[in-house]
Amino acid sequence: MKEITVKTRSRCEIVDITQQINAELPAHIAEGTCLIYCPHTTAGITVNENYDPDVKHDILAKLDRLIPHEESFYQHEEGNSDAHLKASLMGFSQLVPFLGRHLDLGTWQGIYFCEFDGPRIRKVRLYFQKTEDVE
Ligand code: ZN
Repeated sequence: MKEITVKTRSRCEIVDITQQINAELPAHIAEGTCLIYCPHTTAGITVNENYDPDVKHDILAKLDRLIPHEESFYQHEEGNSDAHLKASLMGFSQLVPFLGRHLDLGTWQGIYFCEFDGPRIRKVRLYFQKTEDVE
């Protein structure tokens, strides 16, 4: 397992961590899968387009409309219920194949760390598994 650090700068922010993950892929495994796991309750991991930055904006804007920061029925005393809900919608992990030293993503895809209760210093854990040869 390897751990990377993601420093976020605002309460809600999407950070492209694709290159950070590529840099940690093990040199001794030619083909495998990488489980990208977020060990937090108010941040998540997703895969989406990393070419047009407007996609990140639109994801955050729509999530904010679906799940406002303040709601009269929220009971969680920390005051960050929206962050917990958004994180669960995004999910806490992605399983992505890799070939050599890069994730096998589509042309426009990137790995997004989704911060919903920042700014904070976050951790992302990477678990690698070698693809077994099929005979
Ligand atoms: Zn909370």
